[in-house]
Amino acid sequence: MVAASSPFRVVHTVCSHDCPDSCAVLVTVNEEGRAVKVQGDPSHPVTQGFLCGKVARYLDRVYAPERILYPLRRKSGVPKAPLQRGREHEAFERITWDEALDGIAVRLQQISDAHGPESILPYSYAGTIGVLGYGSMDRRFFHRLGASQLDRTICSEAGGQAWNLVYGKKLGMPTEDFRLAKLILAWGANIHGNNIHLWPMVEQARRKGARLIVIDPYRTRTAALADWHIAIRPGTDAALALGMMHVILNEGLEDRAYIETMTHGFDRLAERAREYTPERVAAWTGMTAAGIERLAREYATTQPAAIRLNYGVQRCENGGAAVRATVMLPALTGAWMHRGGGAQLSTSGGFSWREQAIRRPDLMLASPLGRPARVVNMSTLGYALTELGKSGDQRSEIGDQNTEAHASEGPAVHGLFVYNSNPGAVAPNQNAVRRGLARADLFTVVHDLFFTDTTDYADYVLPATTFLEHSDVQGAYGHYFVQLSQQAIEPLGEARSNVWLFGRLAQRMGFPEPCFRDTTEEIIRQALGIDPSGGPDGHSTNAGMEHITYENLKEQGHIPLAFHRDGFRPNTSGQIPTPSGKIEFYSEALAAEGLDGLPGFVPPAESRWGESAKQYPLEFLGRKADNYMNSTFANLDGHRKMEARTSQRLEMHPADAEARGVADGDGVRVWNARGALHLTAMLNPSLPAGVVAARLDWAKLHADGSNVNVLTSERLTDIGAGATFYSTLVEVERE
Ligand code: SF4
Repeated sequence: MVAASSPFRVVHTVCSHDCPDSCAVLVTVNEEGRAVKVQGDPSHPVTQGFLCGKVARYLDRVYAPERILYPLRRKSGVPKAPLQRGREHEAFERITWDEALDGIAVRLQQISDAHGPESILPYSYAGTIGVLGYGSMDRRFFHRLGASQLDRTICSEAGGQAWNLVYGKKLGMPTEDFRLAKLILAWGANIHGNNIHLWPMVEQARRKGARLIVIDPYRTRTAALADWHIAIRPGTDAALALGMMHVILNEGLEDRAYIETMTHGFDRLAERAREYTPERVAAWTGMTAAGIERLAREYATTQPAAIRLNYGVQRCENGGAAVRATVMLPALTGAWMHRGGGAQLSTSGGFSWREQAIRRPDLMLASPLGRPARVVNMSTLGYALTELGKSGDQRSEIGDQNTEAHASEGPAVHGLFVYNSNPGAVAPNQNAVRRGLARADLFTVVHDLFFTDTTDYADYVLPATTFLEHSDVQGAYGHYFVQLSQQAIEPLGEARSNVWLFGRLAQRMGFPEPCFRDTTEEIIRQALGIDPSGGPDGHSTNAGMEHITYENLKEQGHIPLAFHRDGFRPNTSGQIPTPSGKIEFYSEALAAEGLDGLPGFVPPAESRWGESAKQYPLEFLGRKADNYMNSTFANLDGHRKMEARTSQRLEMHPADAEARGVADGDGVRVWNARGALHLTAMLNPSLPAGVVAARLDWAKLHADGSNVNVLTSERLTDIGAGATFYSTLVEVERE
């Protein structure tokens, strides 16, 4: 603790990076207003006083000499193309915020007048997951402008919708309860790499005899520490879950009483599961039939059994079915009834923020459109920037058959406003995205902390704040605590928050609504559902937050949701928020849309069973780094050093390498119809044969200026129209 007379003060902030843990971060600030230390809050039951390797050295990021600190405008005549790293500033000139806001407002108005407001596309995701930073004033601004709405599908939509089809709401077992489990299945979940605050719970459980089984095609840090690592082939999770059901039902290991009371559609599911014999499932997954039987028996006969499922599983063409099938397992065995058992994909359904109040979708009616704007799927950005607005016969064949079915109609995109994201690195089909970004007639604004693969194409680059430099309120998708993140330091240079940026820009555009002048504190109160007058007693009116006031949140920093105070046990009794009021093994809603009401395994078109495997026989995993957050942190030397071992490497099974005459350390070309990468081969016998892997990085950090997303497609998932990064086929040759 800092003494009252100390020149230092300690401020409660919240890590706003896209991570389930949403850590409580204490920031020590000196007399000069400089942050000198960050540490995990020891009083937060999930943070438990420590931070991950990404954020433990966060001040390197906050005070990085490469940070963009002033608004910038592209110099006239500089073409939109990749810029040399470290020399990006030469393409831009420093301007004032007044010049930036005026210039951007004039161009957006011109575009709106000439092509309609829907020709302006916002592009953002979870560069910050603070409630305000993720979506508040920005949404108000784009709604009032009449800009296209962005369908934010790139990360979790397939899995989220799939979970909700079964359980109605994203309410998983509490993180703290994993310590009570006797068996933990980390299914596509690299707990040690990117959910590190669950790891102490896993360790506690293991000390009391629990076993950890990891199901993941890649031998992650977590898999290496497991009692059993099952390296199944990518995209075969649905088959495995259905195969486990087959064994469980065949051997009478299901919990009939639970099924009777809590679920809907059991008989249909049982009939479906009969098709998934261990032998058939073994042929798809690469496991043995005996291994599938052993896994199913161990899961069904050990209680409490907890499944930590993460979102990688749903980034396949059949990702929705995979999540549905997997999360049905604890309903079949009644694992929910044993404290420490059940499943967790996300806890975000526990937080009932007042989204209508903070995002104001009603403002679309006040836009020049006078109606809700069209929706553009962010997972098809390349398509949106290169094909949208063309008539059907002018559109190029992009080889991703189901993309067009999900694409919007209407004008071409003429204005792109990027914030909280770096699509030049993280969006699929990178060559199409870059062709779009390079269009001379596309006006692009990027709000970010650093020069990225996307700022290379920007007309304006605006300086953004870190979570130390603005206030926000935050929930989590890996615990059940509401937290207030308080501004710890003044923004560096002329960096500004999303709330500031879009409020000021709205005023430049002449939008008269008073909501564009709301302060950060006012929007936090709106998010919490606190009456502006302070209400009768200033308490939140949000479900589960009624005990929270702005003041007690400010004082305590983090407060559990009401239902979590007494030990939350989801899916143990009562109504489930699905159409049937039960956990749905069978979905009438899906069936009504002409879709399969049951989960089933359909091999991805881009997999070893697809037609294109004749040309591109290897399944490619563009995997995430443990020490980056997608592309965030990839520019920092310290973080890159921690990832050096696999930098620009293509990991291959020795049999696949031998078949191509490739030895460890050889230069290789990896390619498909969408693009190519030049990497160095690294033999890895722990990968399934037929699978190769390379790590996501910034394109501009690669010698050939591309990253793994030159290989990935804009094909969409079966549920939720999400991205399918892990359904990608390639071929490899020695160079
Ligand atoms: S990235 Fe995750 S684990 Fe790391 S500090 Fe942030 S919330 Fe915590």
